[in-house]
Amino acid sequence: MRIISVDERTIPLGSKTKNAAISFQAMTASAVVIEIETSRGRFKGLGFSSYGRYGHGGLLRERFIPRLTNITDKISGETSVQLMAQVWDVLMTDEKEGGHGERSGAVGVLETALWDALAKSEDLPLWALLERDAGHSDDSQLPPGKTAIYASGGHYRSSSSDAAELADEAKRGLEAGYGWFKLKVGGASQFIDLSRIESAVKAAGDSSLIAVDANCAYGGENGTAQLIELDQIGLRWIEEPVNPLDYPGLADCCQSLKTPIATGENIFSQADSKNLLHYGELRPGLDNLQMDFVLAYGLTEYLRIIKDAEAFGWSRRDFLPHAGHQVALHAAAGLGLGGHETAVVPGGPFSSVSDDTTVENGIANLGDTPGTGIENKPTLFKLFANLL
Ligand code: MG
Repeated sequence: MRIISVDERTIPLGSKTKNAAISFQAMTASAVVIEIETSRGRFKGLGFSSYGRYGHGGLLRERFIPRLTNITDKISGETSVQLMAQVWDVLMTDEKEGGHGERSGAVGVLETALWDALAKSEDLPLWALLERDAGHSDDSQLPPGKTAIYASGGHYRSSSSDAAELADEAKRGLEAGYGWFKLKVGGASQFIDLSRIESAVKAAGDSSLIAVDANCAYGGENGTAQLIELDQIGLRWIEEPVNPLDYPGLADCCQSLKTPIATGENIFSQADSKNLLHYGELRPGLDNLQMDFVLAYGLTEYLRIIKDAEAFGWSRRDFLPHAGHQVALHAAAGLGLGGHETAVVPGGPFSSVSDDTTVENGIANLGDTPGTGIENKPTLFKLFANLL
């Protein structure tokens, strides 16, 4: 494989929604297009940043794109996994250990664009390339090409009828075939949050079909009391109850709550993931790991994170990547992960799934279009207009 060209743009995402910690009004993302050449011809791979961490234009232009375009030799490997491990080493040239803040997202967006190009060069959807070269889970309940899928939304809005809107959103998501619904908590008083949850549970008809995402709002003593109240409801999970690096706080949650915990979307490296699994006291088979590989150095690093977790007694079924990328949908279906998150707010780049994917009874059935399918997702593909 040779790298022919790499282009990037910063895309404003401007959304009026909020969670417990931030507004998404000023949020941006990076869109990248990488053209590669293999023995089968030239192929363009598309990559898009994850949600919630801003674009990476400066880092891409100053460090990471030049490293790719300066490669003069052909890059080869017996499998796509081996080949991408070599690319990863080039991207990380002269980068010290630790300090995974923003660069891990810059590497992630480039790395996942390359996976899209590689899958196209093999004339395979990414899920099939990953199944072939990285292997599908032995204990997955679904065959390759399918994955569980859930609807994510329930952000705070300024509307006075927030709880009623939320109930509609939950109902629409479940009626559209998503397996369960997730809403935001921790950004209002406990009274308001409990009424929002109650509306969603009523709309779903079963509390186990409702998960909540606290975006780290429940640190401290007051938070513990609020979590104990949430624990009585029988929710599917409580997500990010405390700061992602507060391992003692997370350990307290795991010891005191019977509700499954979900966390990991703000863990950006293999080393941080190991610390989380060592010190967070998370419970394999019950809790959920949501590392977002587009923010965390890409699929190459993600495969290392999964391998470590399996050595700690976790299953791939415990992994449900954050955010709703097309590339995460393919990873879930190709590696046999626990499922895929997708936004139900219509019209955004992380909303829904590509047109060649059907969603029914909580399962996404992926198509055979080569690559990650960004071209089949109009709300995302239109953001590449100035790059292609
Ligand atoms: Mg979250």
